[in-house]
Amino acid sequence: MVGVLVNLSLEHSLLLILAALTVCAVSSWLMLALLDLARLATPQRRVRKMIGAGCVAGLAVWATHFTATLGLRLDFALSFDPLLTITSALAAMVAFGVPISLTALTGRPVYRAICGALGGFGVGAMHVIGMSAITNCTIASSLGETLMVTALGSVVMGLAFSIRPDHLRALRIALVTIAVCIIHFGTIAVSDIHVRYQSVNDLSNSWLAVSIGAVVLILCIMTGYAVNYQARLADQTRHRVLLSTALNNMSNGLVFIGADDRIQLFNDRALAIFGLESDVIHVGMSWRLYLTNVAPVLGWNEARLARVKANHERWFSAPDVTYLEHDLDDGRTVSVACRPILGGGAVLTYDDITAERRAQKEIERLAFEDDLTALPNRRQFQKSLEDIFLQNIGAFLILIDLDHFKNVNDTLGHSAGDDLLVTIGHRLRSLCEREDFVARMAGDEFSVIVLSDDRAYVTALCRRIISHLSAPIKVTGGSVIVGCSVGYASTFDTACPSLLVQYADLALYRAKALGRGHYRGYEAGMREAALQRVQIESDLRTALEDEQFRLAFQPIYRVNPSGHRHGSALIGFEALVRWHHPARGVVSPADFIPVAEETGLIREIGRWVSREACRQAARWPEAIRICINASPVQLRDNLFPEHLSAILAETGVTPSRVEIELTETALVDDSDQIAAVLRALRHTGIRVSMDDFGTGYSSFAHLREFHLDCVKIDQGFVRAAPSDAGARSVLEAIVHMAKALGVSTTGEGVETQAQLETLAACGCDAVQGYFFNVPMDADSAADLCAESATSNQVRTCILH
Ligand code: C2E
Ligand code: CA
Ligand code: CA
Repeated sequence: MVGVLVNLSLEHSLLLILAALTVCAVSSWLMLALLDLARLATPQRRVRKMIGAGCVAGLAVWATHFTATLGLRLDFALSFDPLLTITSALAAMVAFGVPISLTALTGRPVYRAICGALGGFGVGAMHVIGMSAITNCTIASSLGETLMVTALGSVVMGLAFSIRPDHLRALRIALVTIAVCIIHFGTIAVSDIHVRYQSVNDLSNSWLAVSIGAVVLILCIMTGYAVNYQARLADQTRHRVLLSTALNNMSNGLVFIGADDRIQLFNDRALAIFGLESDVIHVGMSWRLYLTNVAPVLGWNEARLARVKANHERWFSAPDVTYLEHDLDDGRTVSVACRPILGGGAVLTYDDITAERRAQKEIERLAFEDDLTALPNRRQFQKSLEDIFLQNIGAFLILIDLDHFKNVNDTLGHSAGDDLLVTIGHRLRSLCEREDFVARMAGDEFSVIVLSDDRAYVTALCRRIISHLSAPIKVTGGSVIVGCSVGYASTFDTACPSLLVQYADLALYRAKALGRGHYRGYEAGMREAALQRVQIESDLRTALEDEQFRLAFQPIYRVNPSGHRHGSALIGFEALVRWHHPARGVVSPADFIPVAEETGLIREIGRWVSREACRQAARWPEAIRICINASPVQLRDNLFPEHLSAILAETGVTPSRVEIELTETALVDDSDQIAAVLRALRHTGIRVSMDDFGTGYSSFAHLREFHLDCVKIDQGFVRAAPSDAGARSVLEAIVHMAKALGVSTTGEGVETQAQLETLAACGCDAVQGYFFNVPMDADSAADLCAESATSNQVRTCILH
């Protein structure tokens, strides 16, 4: 047994407790610093440092306990069993040091708190063993109370370690100290200590212990400082390593210039971007020398170097970041950003943006170029057109639309269509002057901007375009012929780019209406006409519902061979539609039928005309025929014969009284389908006649092929025949041929006696025209029928 302390005065006791607290605080500081060091160490060295931290932690807490125990009793000296005392120190190192050292492995507050709390129980264990080392006292304590006090201290210990390692170190030290105190003093407080015997009182020994404690304390403080310094150093080194790793793994080059105009920092990427050797730059070098070193590598002459330096000076003192792009001789593009720093200096960053710029250029190319023909596209066209107006240049815009392009795509496939467009692009380019701008607008639409105000040149170019584009073109799977329609307008027509396009488009529309292979220039009024068409189209949609259509009937007479008007027998009427527009008055079919055909509304209008015409014909004598005009759009409808038969059944008109008038163009477009419809019509007994014969193809083959019943000779021929011998010969030939084919003839638009006589002399069967009657309303037509029936009766009576 060793008697270590003597009877103590109250002051001595307090001094020891204060010493214990100081030991605890200082050693906690040392322990935490060691743990930080272990945390920052490399994995290989970490375990060693953790063991060190664990030992220090264990010894620190034991020293606190032991010092505080010395001040336990004021009235007598304590004796200690050395073996148990050493065991308690070892217990502290294991039960407290191990869990505490484990906190160096994790930054997660929960794990750290658990380790801290386990350490708290370790302190409790150490305390119990340490107290049992006192030999001259009997210590009785309740297990439950001891555990409770230890648990409370452990919670505080857990709290201390839950705080982030590099944060609030003073608070952590305080919490560790409080935790140790709670466990130590709390456990003593719940213990009952009975003195068994008193040992020798030796005051000198106590001062020896206090002196040793003081030396230990001073050593701890010094070690703590050393360890703390080392931890900071390690931290800085770690930061430096991290910074240099980050810097050298950046995609950007970086040069940091300090307020003293010297380079503070740079990375390898800055060298690599410009292909510089490592001796071109070093920390501490002036930025001017750095640029001087860079100059020969980048091929800058003296003047350029001076300019670059002057620029840098300007950027460094600028209020904001300066960005610029630098094109290197090897074709690369480097972007430079200069960020001035408040108080002097700047950060220069370099980025190799060659790939981005190339991609951007490619995107721009794709955005402004048609990738099939490599011609400029609509966007580029728009831009060029706007430039022309901005620069006030006199120019013509030619729009070209291919005919039959869809057929090529549909029959030979899209790759043939592509070949065709490429060849068209080449041909157009070769036809134009170098300064003329050729673009592909979309699909089969092309445009040419001619930078000239020479109209004659433009019309000649339009002719050349039509003729060259009509020549056969080799494509995948064969050779094709497509034509084109051309429209043009000039910058003299308008001062607005979009209107110029619109004007050229209107001219193109007119050219198409002329048939394929035509060109037209814009003329004043075309726009207004187009607007009117648009208006007509929208009004037409409600015209049927609002019952705005009426029929006019123009009588058709059998020709009196004597050539006299009187005595010509009424044989039928032609139904002519009229549109009684609420605002415009009566609109001529010539104005609205084409619009109705384009929109398809003609099918509905045509059905109404047929029904109304048959309804009226039902009021007339059986011998009077009704002629109904049908447009190609209606004839292309397979249901047309069916609808017509239904109307005939509904109105009770005999099919043989009905004659459908169609134009020759209808027979040319889609002849197979039309032939089928005509066959169906003829099958029901309906007659079919060809309208306006002599204006179009005037083909007798059509008459025979389609088994037509009647030819209506166009009013142009009828008008010319009396005075023009040629026209008269043609008229005679038509009538002759028709007779030979068994087809009857009707002369249209007869306005004079001479015309009637000519037709009669040629042997024409029937006539209609203002010379007899203008088209009349339904009631007048019915009256005329009645009148004609009476006069026929009178004539019959006289003859008998
Ligand atoms: P179209 O079938 O050739 O009709 C004859 C046109 O000549 C009518 O004009 C008629 O009023 C006019 N006309 C008759 N006699 C004379 C004359 O002696 N001298 C002159 N200068 N003209 C005369 P409208 O009614 O204006 O019809 C024009 C065209 O509209 C028609 O030409 C026809 O192609 C079309 N059309 C009229 N009604 C219909 C219809 O219901 N359906 C369809 N699809 N087209 C119709
Ligand atoms: Ca007609
Ligand atoms: Ca006609």
